[in-house]
Amino acid sequence: MSEKIGIAILGSTGSIGTQALEVIESYPDRFDLRVLTAHSNAALLIAQAKKFEPQCVVIGDESKYLLVKEALEKEDILVYAGENALAEVTTLDSVHVVLTALVGYAGLKPTLAAIRAKKNIALANKETLVVAGELVTKEARKYGVSIYPVDSEHSAIFQCLTGEHMNAIEKIYLTASGGPFRGWSTEQLEKVKKEHALKHPNWVMGAKITIDSASLMNKGLEVIEAKWLFDLKPEQIDVIVHPQSIVHSLVQFEDGSMKAQMGLPDMKLPIQYALTFPYRWKTDFPRFNFMDYPNLTFEQADRKTFRNLDLAFEALTKGGNLACSLNAANEVSVAAFLKDEISFLDIAKINEATMNATQFNTSADYDVYVQTDQLAREYAQNAIQLI
Ligand code: NDP
Ligand code: MG
Repeated sequence: MSEKIGIAILGSTGSIGTQALEVIESYPDRFDLRVLTAHSNAALLIAQAKKFEPQCVVIGDESKYLLVKEALEKEDILVYAGENALAEVTTLDSVHVVLTALVGYAGLKPTLAAIRAKKNIALANKETLVVAGELVTKEARKYGVSIYPVDSEHSAIFQCLTGEHMNAIEKIYLTASGGPFRGWSTEQLEKVKKEHALKHPNWVMGAKITIDSASLMNKGLEVIEAKWLFDLKPEQIDVIVHPQSIVHSLVQFEDGSMKAQMGLPDMKLPIQYALTFPYRWKTDFPRFNFMDYPNLTFEQADRKTFRNLDLAFEALTKGGNLACSLNAANEVSVAAFLKDEISFLDIAKINEATMNATQFNTSADYDVYVQTDQLAREYAQNAIQLI
């Protein structure tokens, strides 16, 4: 490969961001890290900048700008702050791929900016496709940009589809670990505290996605993400609980054949594949051993107890701005749960009430999403006060 791959990481201080840096560090001759960004963790951003010497860094929280600027005074690194800067740095000439590893709705604006600047996207930030999948995929087509999935399930589907050319998908199965509360009853869930919910059995991730995994909202968001990535109808998407997290997802083709992608749960692999597609670069990641997993098991998800999955299917089926509203409600309710303001079961209740109160709008317009997000946040916040 002649030219190095210029990379911007939005959210370099997070779980995906730091694992992406490990991947990038392993191939200094092939990757050129140009941009690092954080929201408020100035100390880690500064340390990363000193180590990796990117062209520029962005700190989202503007009150920390001077701190970062002064710490990097002696380095040849530009320092910016704020939401607009986050979007602007994705458009730099030296950037080829933007890894969206920031969390939540905040990913929408910079992702759209990157697409319009014709940058390929390595997408971890699933919320962007949940909020505005129709608009984002339309813009990606218009600007000839590829969106490579980082989410392990979607990377699995993407890997299964490689080489299949125009062979149609009959159905996909997204696997779910079931989270720490798999098999629990509503009575047991009433007593759950954030300490329990933050302990995922198979993955170490950021706080928001860990709670989403425990509440099955994560799988719901992933169902919507899959619709937009692979252009599927709701009835073509199914979820199967697989507690060992070895089979990362499956595709069923029209002849009935099924392809699965397997491996130990390690996000570095899908991160790397999204950055190097269509190539597979040699790694020394630990290899799967069948004898460590003599039993791979599968079971139905408990949709009655974990309501969020059905809410996501409903948003997906009805379309329009419902998924945007559901996402906003969920960001607010998860934040409230993490502050001990509401119980674990309240998360789905607030999500459902907010979604039901949404003013339905089917136009895939940026301003509609911004307004829907804002109104849903206000509605969810009010609902929390009433609890
Ligand atoms: P983390 O919470 O660990 O990291 C989030 C990153 O985004 C941090 O760098 C954080 O900065 C930054 N950030 C947070 N809020 C904002 C904001 N408002 N504006 C700009 N930047 C912000 O999250 P994860 O790495 O776990 O997840 C990132 C995304 O990837 C999510 O969308 C998640 O669903 C998805 N994903 C994650 C997986 C995982 O294994 N972790 C697996 C599959 C998907 P700071 O540190 O300064 O707060
Ligand atoms: Mg996933």
